[in-house]
Amino acid sequence: MAALAGRTALVAGASSGLGAGFARLFAEAGANIVLGARRLDRVQALARELADAGAQSLAVAMDVTDETSVIEAFDRAEARFGTVNSIVANAGTACPGRSTEVPLAGVRKVIDTNLIGTYLVAREAARRLIASGSREREDGRIILIGSITAEQAHVGDAAYAASKAAIAHLGRQFAREWIRLGINVNIIQPGWIHTEINDAWYRSQLSGAAIAGLPRRRMQAASSLNDMVLYLASDRSQAVTGATFVIDDGQSL
Ligand code: NAD
Repeated sequence: MAALAGRTALVAGASSGLGAGFARLFAEAGANIVLGARRLDRVQALARELADAGAQSLAVAMDVTDETSVIEAFDRAEARFGTVNSIVANAGTACPGRSTEVPLAGVRKVIDTNLIGTYLVAREAARRLIASGSREREDGRIILIGSITAEQAHVGDAAYAASKAAIAHLGRQFAREWIRLGINVNIIQPGWIHTEINDAWYRSQLSGAAIAGLPRRRMQAASSLNDMVLYLASDRSQAVTGATFVIDDGQSL
């Protein structure tokens, strides 16, 4: 049986990069899939692609920094599929640069998106799971996307690294709060993967030396997260909560 058959999954920030990949993965694994993003045209196109491949999918407008937008996205998801029980809080943004130079507006945007946005998505998911009886079903699975920058000090984008460190502890807090309410919360910390978030850096002259300095001298493949994401989103991870998984192709070694 498909790993997520009978489940409804929601991916926040599904319009590009890792989020779009998770959505395709979940659809293949048999879940009903809700694609949340600000760029509705992109998730609508992805929903059509998934529907053509036989999946039940729904594109919803979702700005994770806006509480009302998050609530309305879950309303639409629930109206179509019922309670969402596999959730990936994946939306994220960066504001590269040295701390002495990055404008405060950039710092606030990073914290607002990565930390508050993750908080709002996980909280709304949990509220609805609890109201629908997850305590008895024990079916809630929430995955927070952190980063290895949570553990390592680099030059540049301190707010991003701090937000990802905060996400790791937020996940443990949520896991503890909801442990008897049938909701598991886990954190994945990926390494450097080429996506839109770092495309400008990847194409710049800075990236060559940085990539050559990584233990395997390469960026991580996005698909290397798939098995862990699928496991944590499924019934099989029943006993796993409050855990942080570094899946980084050895980049932090
Ligand atoms: P990406 O830029 O392709 O994806 C980020 C997505 O979040 C985009 O679709 C973007 O539109 C969305 N988003 C941003 N602000 C949002 C908002 N307010 N509301 C809704 N959606 C919003 O980059 P990605 O690499 O796929 O990033 C996905 C997640 O993975 C992020 O949390 C990122 O921090 C994390 N991550 C990425 C890497 C990497 O090297 N690519 C490494 C570790 C962690």
